[in-house]
Amino acid sequence: MELMYKSTRSNETATASEAILKGLASDGGLFVPVTLPKLSVDIDELKGMSYQEVAYLVMKEFLTDFTEEELKSCIAKAYDSKFDTEEIAPIVKADGAYYLELFHGATIAFKDMALSILPHLLTTSAKKNNVKNEIVILTATSGDTGKAALAGFADVENTRIVVFYPKGGVSPIQEKQMVTQKGANTHVVGIKGNFDQAQSGVKAIFGNKELEKELDAAGFQFSSANSINIGRLVPQVVYYVYSYAKLLAEGEIEKGEKINVVVPTGNFGNILAAYYAKNMGLPIAKLICASNDNKVLYDFFETGSYDKNREFILTTSPSMDILISSNLERLIYKIAGCDDVKNKELMTALVTEGKYEITEDMKAELKDFYGNYATEAETADIIKAIYGDTGYIIDTHTAVAAKVYKKYKEATKDETKSVIASTASPFKFTRSVMNAIDPKYDAMGDFELVDELSKIGNVAVPNAIEEIRTAPVLHDTVVEVDEMTDAVKKFLGL
Ligand SMILES: *Cc1c(COP(=O)(O)O)cnc(C)c1O
Repeated sequence: MELMYKSTRSNETATASEAILKGLASDGGLFVPVTLPKLSVDIDELKGMSYQEVAYLVMKEFLTDFTEEELKSCIAKAYDSKFDTEEIAPIVKADGAYYLELFHGATIAFKDMALSILPHLLTTSAKKNNVKNEIVILTATSGDTGKAALAGFADVENTRIVVFYPKGGVSPIQEKQMVTQKGANTHVVGIKGNFDQAQSGVKAIFGNKELEKELDAAGFQFSSANSINIGRLVPQVVYYVYSYAKLLAEGEIEKGEKINVVVPTGNFGNILAAYYAKNMGLPIAKLICASNDNKVLYDFFETGSYDKNREFILTTSPSMDILISSNLERLIYKIAGCDDVKNKELMTALVTEGKYEITEDMKAELKDFYGNYATEAETADIIKAIYGDTGYIIDTHTAVAAKVYKKYKEATKDETKSVIASTASPFKFTRSVMNAIDPKYDAMGDFELVDELSKIGNVAVPNAIEEIRTAPVLHDTVVEVDEMTDAVKKFLGL
């Protein structure tokens, strides 16, 4: 039977491939599966399966209009030697938890897990829906997403990608990663403005009907790779199922034993994927949502009130510096009894008042979640402590999760075995990580720090970092904010 998707804000429906092509529903809502699917096999049977095999068994339940051949081909193209470990998502046991390392892809952060397959899901969806135009991905980035999208779409047939980043507003390593991007279909543009201006510029281009016509006439159409696309969410369900199967295969857990999952959270995509995995039948007890100082979600789980009216705090875990967790809307819709009218009311309140409050009944539906946060000092301290105790070095985002997990255990005395989603390589946030271990490192240069981290942590420097040491700059376009549309047209030869 075909699984349909519907908008969280109206009755608009779509097949999986249509939802992937559209990204967002036309009413501004997010597409959600009409019913959350179950795994078709006993979890015991997944023991010993490869990542790719588990990926197929999970994703086929969500993307029911893809043929077996189509889906397997997407999976094979995505999870290949771009990853530096054969397991794709290895598990490291350290400090009383299982760290699920989601950072072995092209850009050494967990966004690679979904962005390496999204281009293939998208081009397959285009074919299935008789889209003849070439797909042009537009993205504004504050650093991480842009590079992961570039790496995913580079040299993928029938696609082009344009990434805008705030010139001077990303870290030197992040900028170097982007401007050295290979692939004739990639275009990286710095803008003389901040991230918000880049984001608004991209939104304006998406909304430009004239331009849309012009593109169509020339055989192009825009699409988005951002994290609310169902084509990014579904691939993330896979690694939770895979990690469970792996722990089972290694005798770390018994058949049917429940585990907790701890996720460092920003946009709520990664932890929502864990929630979907639980709904598929994976024995997950608690979903532990870890925030940094931008603790909107912690306050939400405590009080039932989501309130973004607060100061935006820059932290050492920048990928979690978010005040509007877009993917939370999918959970809100579900706990509102899949009521699109009620959900829309709340989302409208978020726009007009910057906050909304859920009912007691809805709050009761959140009992599987536990929220807490880690301050900057706590984040640095836990990196140092885990390194000191075990020699294992974690990045700042993962450290937020590690600290919250400790707080959870102290508060609840729950000893359930727990998987911590490890979302970035420490090499991606080298300076913050090394400073946490010893402030003396602050005197070192960026690449000196990389070598020092490799030495003290006894881990090889990842390819992604090795490459940019010497890679030539291939993108040097910088434009004013009001020249963004022209930059896109020029790249497309319009
Ligand atoms: C994006 C990101 C997160 C947050 O993930 P969400 O799905 O947005 O909650 C956490 N850590 C790292 C390193 C990230 O890049």
